[in-house]
Amino acid sequence: MRHNFGAGPCILPQEVFKQASQAVLDFKDGLSILEISHRTPEFEGVVEETTRLIKELMNVPEGYSVLLLQGGASLQFAMVPMNLLPEGQTASYLETGVWANKAIKEVAFFGKANIVASSKDANFTFIPKDYTIPEDSAYFHFTSNNTIYGTELFNLPKTSIPVVCDMSSDIMSRVIDVSQFDLIYAGAQKNIGPAGLTVVIVKDEILGKSGRKIPSMLDYKVQIDGGSMYNTPPVFSIYTAMLNLRWLKAKGGVAEIEKENTAKARALYAEIDRNPLFKGTCAVEDRSKMNVCFVMENPEHEKPFLKYAEENGIEGIKGHRSVGGFRASIYNALPITSVHALIELMQIFAEKQQ
Ligand SMILES: *Cc1c(COP(=O)(O)O)cnc(C)c1O
Repeated sequence: MRHNFGAGPCILPQEVFKQASQAVLDFKDGLSILEISHRTPEFEGVVEETTRLIKELMNVPEGYSVLLLQGGASLQFAMVPMNLLPEGQTASYLETGVWANKAIKEVAFFGKANIVASSKDANFTFIPKDYTIPEDSAYFHFTSNNTIYGTELFNLPKTSIPVVCDMSSDIMSRVIDVSQFDLIYAGAQKNIGPAGLTVVIVKDEILGKSGRKIPSMLDYKVQIDGGSMYNTPPVFSIYTAMLNLRWLKAKGGVAEIEKENTAKARALYAEIDRNPLFKGTCAVEDRSKMNVCFVMENPEHEKPFLKYAEENGIEGIKGHRSVGGFRASIYNALPITSVHALIELMQIFAEKQQ
């Protein structure tokens, strides 16, 4: 039995893998999902259902569009300022890690980025809290979950300007109020489905104000008008995401998975805090429920522990190269039994050191 704690692409439910592989062989009348036209009623039905499931699972209010795009969250780093930032104006960003930095970098092509606060000096081990967002910014951007450093932003800052969020690694892991956001984007490959699909949820009324000419593929309005089918969409990624969203709905939706995610995170952090060999790397109140980062009190134990984990079916817990130590990603599809397996391994390893 392998337990996949990889950070992304990452685990999806086994039944989703089975159904997706079945559709590769026979989606409709012996034809593969990979060979049918995206303009068939069957595939249009897949896009419709995927969009509907996202709206339903996240309780997306009227006045918002859900888009199924390509290019990953990384293309959104540029599409957001291209569509929302008028020439010469400023957008405000919260600097909480590598992904936030990459988003900030792209702003320079279109206008100015104003960093309202940063935890860079502390190697991004906490979420800055006391700062003000200038009301004359075009929008405020933040990363809700910092996949690499293991911090998560649980309390939205108050502001009257449009709020834009990179939700790639905690979307649909907990209940959020979409009406408090103006644009949400997420690469699919953490909680939604396979890589190749990017989900954007945008409040229609914020669009069309940049005064800039935007190439068609990069224009949210063009994508909305095209029903996410301006060009050939990533058919297999969308289909597999739809299967995964069906799985989430059958489980009881986001509120139910949130309970499981909380239980998983609580159990793992409790062991990190209890076990004298391990320690967490982030401020306790900002600890992510998706990516649990930790190190060992004695760095010399890290290599043997990693080896021991891999020998015992624990995959993907090596920390990101910019943090070191370990990172256990415990996304929606990771069962609590896998968390228990990791905890048991930490306990046995600790006993062996005595
Ligand atoms: C994974 C990740 C990204 C990068 O996503 P791509 O789809 O590979 O561009 C961006 N932001 C966050 C928070 C992520 O976790």
